[in-house]
Amino acid sequence: MDNILNLSLEELKQWMKDNGESEFRAKQVFHWIYKSNQWNFRDMDNLPKNTKEKLAKSFSIDIPEIIEVYKSKDEDTYKFLYEYEDGNIIETVVMKYKHGNSICVSTQIGCRMGCKFCASTVDGMVRNLSSGEILAQILKAQEQIGERISNIVLMGSGEPLDNYDNVIKFLSLVNAEYSLNIGQRHITLSTCGIVPKIRELADKNYQITLAISLHAPNDKLRKTMMPIANKYSISEIIEACKYYINKTNRRITFEYALVNDVNDSAQSAEELAKLLKGILCHVNLIPVNKVRENNFEKSSTNNIKNFSNILIEKGIETTIRREMGSDINAACGQLRRSYLKSKNYLKEV
Ligand code: SAH
Repeated sequence: MDNILNLSLEELKQWMKDNGESEFRAKQVFHWIYKSNQWNFRDMDNLPKNTKEKLAKSFSIDIPEIIEVYKSKDEDTYKFLYEYEDGNIIETVVMKYKHGNSICVSTQIGCRMGCKFCASTVDGMVRNLSSGEILAQILKAQEQIGERISNIVLMGSGEPLDNYDNVIKFLSLVNAEYSLNIGQRHITLSTCGIVPKIRELADKNYQITLAISLHAPNDKLRKTMMPIANKYSISEIIEACKYYINKTNRRITFEYALVNDVNDSAQSAEELAKLLKGILCHVNLIPVNKVRENNFEKSSTNNIKNFSNILIEKGIETTIRREMGSDINAACGQLRRSYLKSKNYLKEV
């Protein structure tokens, strides 16, 4: 059965037409789903019985079940462990800020990019998430916190540009007025750097923020951390970023996870500053989250400060990511893995 959350308004209108129903019913259905959190056709009161029955025969409304909710002590971070129909488990994080609620969604179950410091990728990729499945993470989270979510980051498990078509459809769905109505400028897509897809995305001319997980100032070092570096060089990534900026006029974010004694030296900072000089960008330094499956350690506070100061001195706009929710294992893929392990679905690595 088709998940109705994968459909645009136009597509549902067409379905109504094809099935002898009035087109305006499509808007009513989406109003129930997106604005009223009503996820059962039977209870959509303004629809005729016959229409509800037809809908229920053709479509499901796939909202994941919550299996666990974790709240950080200061209650500004929530982590949801969701289970989809087919039993697959993913995690979604909600961060509450003064300026609004932000959600970090997963785009795939697992990931096949193999970054050495990341827990999401340890067991490879299970499958892609559909656009509706990504969207449902937000719907369910809004219901849970009882508030609107206004910002989205595609930084959960998975590589968004490795699930390109579904992610593009997701972007157009959440942006729509009849749906969650979240503006493109409130959306950040993070990628490990799949160059041809960055260019394809640029051609869409969306106003979303593109974040690049760079994590190293040169290919030699990057290759020791991220297998994707064997496929695309940093200079190819930079060229694609320049193309993106040209097309969209949007500032790019470079993410740089600081790992003790790996990529946090003053020399690396100098090299990074040189690489990014003159590019419309911003560097986000992330103290690496310790993951059980590897031995990457967080840089010292001193090194983080030094690294940041060097970049700033060289004229590169830099921020250090505030650490939120580390008491609830909020780093990518950590929770899913510890849950699967506790149920003996995964063997120790
Ligand atoms: N695949 C995409 C998006 C998911 S990862 C990407 O690579 O960008 C989101 C961000 O978290 C990336 O910058 C990723 O490199 C970073 N990340 C993964 N594991 C981490 C860890 N243990 N500590 C800090 N950042 C981590």
